[in-house]
Amino acid sequence: MSDSSEKKVVLITGGSRGIGEAIVQRFAEAGYSVAFTYASNQAAADAVVSRIAAAGGSALGLVADVRDFPRACDVVKEVQDALGPITVLVNNAGIKKDMPLMKMDPASWQDVLDTNLTGTFNYTRALIGSLVRTGGSVINVASTSGVTGMAGQSNYSASKAGVIGFTRALAKEVVRFGVRVNAIAPGFIETDMTASIDEAVRKKLYAQIPMGRAGSARDVAQLALYLAGDDTTYVTGQVWNMDGGLT
Ligand code: NAP
Repeated sequence: MSDSSEKKVVLITGGSRGIGEAIVQRFAEAGYSVAFTYASNQAAADAVVSRIAAAGGSALGLVADVRDFPRACDVVKEVQDALGPITVLVNNAGIKKDMPLMKMDPASWQDVLDTNLTGTFNYTRALIGSLVRTGGSVINVASTSGVTGMAGQSNYSASKAGVIGFTRALAKEVVRFGVRVNAIAPGFIETDMTASIDEAVRKKLYAQIPMGRAGSARDVAQLALYLAGDDTTYVTGQVWNMDGGLT
C-alpha cells in the first residue's frame, strides 16, 4: 500500500453491508483511505472495519442517515479533517419498499425517494464545493429498475431514474472542474436487499437474465473502482448497466 500522505480518499454511503461493503473492501485493497457511512447496523460496520484492519488497511465507519443533510455536511468535514480531501464519492446507500401502487402508502413512497434520491443529492451537495477544487469522481449506484421500470417498484424505479437524471445533469455541470459523474445500474445482485425474495420469484427472475444468474457485490465494486480510476478519465455522464445482459 502507498504512503498515507499519497493516498486518495473515498467516501462511500451505506458501506456496512452488501454492495457498499464490497466497494469499501475493493477500494481499501486498491490502497485508498476509505470512509463509509451506515444507517444503524453498528455490528456490521465494526466487522467491516475489523476485516480491513486485519488485511493491513484502515477504514473509518460513521453512523449517518443519508436523509439528513446537516449530518452529511458534518460527515464530509469529519472525514476530510481525519483523512484529507475526498476525491471519490460513491452514493450507494439505498432501500426498497416494494408494493403495487394501489397499495402504496405515502410514507413508503417518501422514504424510498428520500433515501435513494435525496440521499444522493445530500452527499454530493455536501462535497461538491471541495470536489470542484480538487477534481475527482462521483459514482452513483442506480438500478436496472430505474432504466427499464419494474412492476411493484414504482417508488424505487422513480428514485433510481431520478439518480440517473441527476448523474447526467451534474456531469455536464461540473465537467469543466475536472469532476466526472457516472452511474452504475446493477441488475439482480445477491445481498440482504434481495435475500428475502421468494424462491419461485427468484427462479423467474433468473430465467429472464441472459446469463441465468445473479451478479455479486464484488462485480459492482470492480466497476466502481474502474470508474474512479485513471483508466476512465474520458468517461462522464454515463450509466453503466451491470445486469448479466438483462437490459
Ligand atoms: P443492503 O444489502 O440492504 O445494504 C444497504 C446499505 O445501505 C447498508 O449499509 C445500510 O446501512 C445502508 N443504508 C440504508 N438506509 C440508509 C440510510 N437511510 N442512511 C445511511 N445508510 C443507509 O443493500 P444493497 O443490495 O447492497 O444495495 C446497495 C445499493 O445498490 C442500493 O442503492 C440499491 O438500491 C442498489 N442496488 C441493489 C441491487 C441488488 O440487487 N441488491 C440492484 C440494483 C441496485 P445499515 O447496515 O446500517 O442498515
